[in-house]
Amino acid sequence: NTLLKVVILGDGGVGKSCLMNRFVSNHFDEHSFHTIGVEFLNKDIEIDNENYTLQIWDTAGQERFKTLRTPFYRGSDICMLTYAIDDKSSFRNMNMWKNEFLYYADIKENTYFPFIVVGNKSDVLVEEREVSQLELETWCNENGIASCIETSAKSASNVQEAFKMAVQHWLRA
Ligand code: GDP
Ligand code: MG
Repeated sequence: NTLLKVVILGDGGVGKSCLMNRFVSNHFDEHSFHTIGVEFLNKDIEIDNENYTLQIWDTAGQERFKTLRTPFYRGSDICMLTYAIDDKSSFRNMNMWKNEFLYYADIKENTYFPFIVVGNKSDVLVEEREVSQLELETWCNENGIASCIETSAKSASNVQEAFKMAVQHWLRA
């Protein structure tokens, strides 16, 4: 059994806590979670007859303080960069989250790190969409990130797949 630390980063409101909750307990709560302090939840997942325990770290509303700093980032195996497809500024801010992660997780320059980019809220109406799938793919190509997916924590679309994809990406890294 392999333990993997997964951190979910992105602007407040993009649905990080909902994604974690959907993945861990297959449940969606319309209202945000008001947890204080850094938290993680464990979830077991089986991929190709191998068992993994994902230790998923959520930022619990500290996004506005920008700096979650070392205990949160240190020792991460996988980083899930998250935005909401109906919020262009959360998409633009992924650069900041990515740089913040690389710096505070103390990832050495020129080493490959398995990021996965998740565009959440894929259930919203077409007219509410502000980021296209092509923009997502282009950003990932420009940043050398091989894995991206659109999800909906609300409808459960692609949530299991996103975490599975993250582990498969880690396996290849
Ligand atoms: P966080 O700040 O990134 O942890 O975001 P939350 O998980 O607290 O979610 C922020 C808001 O977005 C809440 O009102 C959720 O109900 C809503 N939300 C989260 N995921 C989805 C989704 O997949 N689709 C839609 N339509 N709303 C979502
Ligand atoms: Mg949250």
